Amino acid sequence: MEKSYKIYEERTKKSAVLYKKARNYTPLGVHSYVRFYKPYPLYVDRAQGTRIIDVDGNEYIDFSMNYGAQLIGHTHPQVVAAIKKQVERGTLYTMPHNLSNELAKEIIKRFPIDQVRFTNSGLEATMHALRLTRGYTGRDKIIKIGGAYHGLHDYVVTKDDPVKATEKAIPGCKGIPPETLQNTLMGVFNDLTSIKSLCNRYKGQIAGIIIEPIMMNRGIILPEDNFLKEVKEICQKEGALLIFDEVKTGVKVAWGGASEYYDIKPDIICLAKSIGGGLPLGAFGAREEIMSAIESGEVSHAGTYNANPLSVTAGLVALRDILTKESYKEIFRLNKKLIESCREIIAKYRLPVHTVYIGACGTIQFCKKPLRNHKDYRLVDVEMGERFWISMLNRGIIPCPYPPPREQWTISVQHTDEDINRYLEAFEGIAPKLLENS
Ligand code: PMP
Repeated sequence: MEKSYKIYEERTKKSAVLYKKARNYTPLGVHSYVRFYKPYPLYVDRAQGTRIIDVDGNEYIDFSMNYGAQLIGHTHPQVVAAIKKQVERGTLYTMPHNLSNELAKEIIKRFPIDQVRFTNSGLEATMHALRLTRGYTGRDKIIKIGGAYHGLHDYVVTKDDPVKATEKAIPGCKGIPPETLQNTLMGVFNDLTSIKSLCNRYKGQIAGIIIEPIMMNRGIILPEDNFLKEVKEICQKEGALLIFDEVKTGVKVAWGGASEYYDIKPDIICLAKSIGGGLPLGAFGAREEIMSAIESGEVSHAGTYNANPLSVTAGLVALRDILTKESYKEIFRLNKKLIESCREIIAKYRLPVHTVYIGACGTIQFCKKPLRNHKDYRLVDVEMGERFWISMLNRGIIPCPYPPPREQWTISVQHTDEDINRYLEAFEGIAPKLLENS
């Protein structure tokens, strides 16, 4: 790896200077901990289409797409034109406007919900969804799945040890009082017994189950056959709500997200990332009866920047005009091509890794067999992920968000066959060396 770091340092000297400067002002030099990687992160000069250009002038083909927030690609001309126009008309109203009606309508078309409230991030969406769940059911306990990520608010930041899984949640970092998590219970993905046993032990106390329908913060872990349907049935039987965190899956695995893909109607849906066309936007929605707890004021939801016209404009143009049903065909074609060719390279070089893909997303998982849940995550070769990352950067490819073992690429509407070929060329170039630690 030392050799790869050396090459990286040679080509990113200006990033090194900016990083050093940033350390004076900011812990780790970054404003979100996943943005830091060794030896120091790239500093971006600009993004355009499927490209990121760093401050040293290096060009990268971007398959991270902002942690999956940019299914429309960077600087999409339709969004750029619309937000330029909107800037002239005001960036913040804190009063109602029709744009938010239009975007709400688009979201309700795609997802099985009657009403929606906008937030500014995925974190806020899941936080408010949990409050709504508790407020509506009058119960406190929430089941969360080990290894799932719902943003960094206190109720869901849990220590998800793959070996020592516990039923009761343990704070995932300092600063979270254990009492805050006394109502968070830990279920296991693709393991109905774990969920049923929690429901039996806490009969009548479970407000809801929050779940990433596809685990996309552990690479990609797909739900087995009837897992989601059965979780839904358990919820119905227990009088608990099923919350789908579709922050990553929504509008990316299908036009109508995982709810459409698996034909399941959760009680509450959380959205963010790609619904905002690259601007900060989140949302949570449910059927009217559940949302009435917000209408009545029994459950509070407010925010200065909620439904700001800039984010809403970007989201509206992205969902209504760019991410049409038709547009998904090309995205899915390119994704299939990328995954199938990666599989050929993996077989050719006998790499002990495998690939998983769905919709616009895919990943190289650094272990031999598909993961079933976070307990299997211990099988992942994290070091190999690091080698893959730095070697791909050195070849002008941002292969996925960082860190690779936990993330997945997003193919945007702007990616082309040429971009996919360049990824494959780079992957084939590094494949023989992936097993060596040099
Ligand atoms: N839920 C899921 C499934 C996520 O992947 C993320 C972010 N990666 C979040 C919630 C939090 O979203 P945000 O970073 O916008 O707060």
